[in-house]
Amino acid sequence: MQYEPLTIRAARIVPVGRPAPSGPIDLRIRDGHVSEIGPALADDGSREIDVAGRWLIPGLWDHHVHMTQWAHTLSRLDVSGSSSPGDVLRIVRSHDRASTDRHSTIVGFGYRSAGWASAPTVRDLDEAVPDRPVVLISGDAHNGWLNSTALRLLDLPLRDTPISENAWFDVFPLLAALPGAEPDPVHAYRTVLQDAAGKGVVGITDMEFESSVATWGRMVPLGLDTLRVRASTYLYGLEATIAAGLRTGDPLPGGGAVATMGPLKIIADGSLGTMTALCCAPYAGHDTRGTCNVSPEELLEALRSARAHGLDAAVHAIGDAAATMVLDAFRDSGIRGSIEHAQLLDPADITRMATLGVRASVQPAQLYDDRDLSEQLWPGCADRSFMLRSMVDAGVQLALGSDAPVAPLDPWLAMAAAVHRSADSRGPWGAAQAITPAEALCASTDGQQTPTVGSRADLVLLDADPLAVAHDSATAAHTLRTMGVAATLVGGRVVHDAL
Ligand SMILES: [Zn+2]
Repeated sequence: MQYEPLTIRAARIVPVGRPAPSGPIDLRIRDGHVSEIGPALADDGSREIDVAGRWLIPGLWDHHVHMTQWAHTLSRLDVSGSSSPGDVLRIVRSHDRASTDRHSTIVGFGYRSAGWASAPTVRDLDEAVPDRPVVLISGDAHNGWLNSTALRLLDLPLRDTPISENAWFDVFPLLAALPGAEPDPVHAYRTVLQDAAGKGVVGITDMEFESSVATWGRMVPLGLDTLRVRASTYLYGLEATIAAGLRTGDPLPGGGAVATMGPLKIIADGSLGTMTALCCAPYAGHDTRGTCNVSPEELLEALRSARAHGLDAAVHAIGDAAATMVLDAFRDSGIRGSIEHAQLLDPADITRMATLGVRASVQPAQLYDDRDLSEQLWPGCADRSFMLRSMVDAGVQLALGSDAPVAPLDPWLAMAAAVHRSADSRGPWGAAQAITPAEALCASTDGQQTPTVGSRADLVLLDADPLAVAHDSATAAHTLRTMGVAATLVGGRVVHDAL
């Protein structure tokens, strides 16, 4: 990536993992990197931006995104505020009545049924909307509630309950066959990429269920190249990835200077919201400990094969028993990579993560949604949920993200939740596991530290100091959540400019 040289004048560099110069300073950017830093750099004829003392940080990463799902969310019916099947049905029915198009599929997103007093049924959805397809996707994306018209159109057997876990992951890629269910996402990609640049995001790991490798090979040549992408593959794509000779870190075909091959993604267990996360103890009031989506033997075999072909691994584990199983597979395969979510942990596994060098890819904003459900289904587990403090103290490499669309693609929201574990007026949930703004920022820059000569010119200019001294965690989180992003640069190219 090469763009015209640039001189940034009067930036205050925020220390990220190592000290920063005090006071405003100039930076010169050349060939995608910081080439010079110093007070009052001489005019070399390059383009200049005077940032008037704004704060400069390394660009932000979201280490877990489902980009196409996130893009589709813009046009999906929001059913996230519902607290019963009746709530959802009311929203769907009124949307149906208001729409003039009688044939296209109603696709809704965001319900969380695990805490509901009564279970959702296909019959109720059929009664609400009998004559056109309806697909409702849960807020954790681990189950889907389809009416019979949609089931028939997809050639699926009729049933009376939502479809969950592996059976649901098999249905996900079929949804495009339903009329109007998945409009071409190119337009929506433009919107979500612009939004991401406006939040200072310079890179994502894409965990989309469909082939994100193919998607980015199509999007980048269309000019959708304003952030870096590591595109993952799921198990079903592993053979093709190996056949194509793609190793983690390799440039993607068609991916220009921004898209590279990411990890092999495997979903080892379910989720809290679907009551399928695999736990050591049964869910309170229920006769289940969750489910395994892959056997320990299959998992180990897949990781060994991935490692032999130069791929890293990103393995989803939400329940404590799943994390233990996944760590065993990391140990036995010797593969590099991350546990995705690591939501509920046995503290002993944190020590193992540190020893094995397994990264924790955690989405703190999910604690906003999961707090009450956790207390209901995993009572007394606040200090074993989202164990950020313990991870940082143990030396586990922490990488924050959103799991968008499960939470919005917004690193500031993730950092705020990591710092102050409450979305409302209640005190922090599991306060002992909170981390500082400096630690949260460090976990959001893909390992990039305080910009210095030679650093990637993936840089963000902020209207306020993200590490401003705050009296309490609520104030610090408020500073993060309301942060103004003045400019975002990727490889020295300005992709967002509000200066
Ligand atoms: Zn995910």
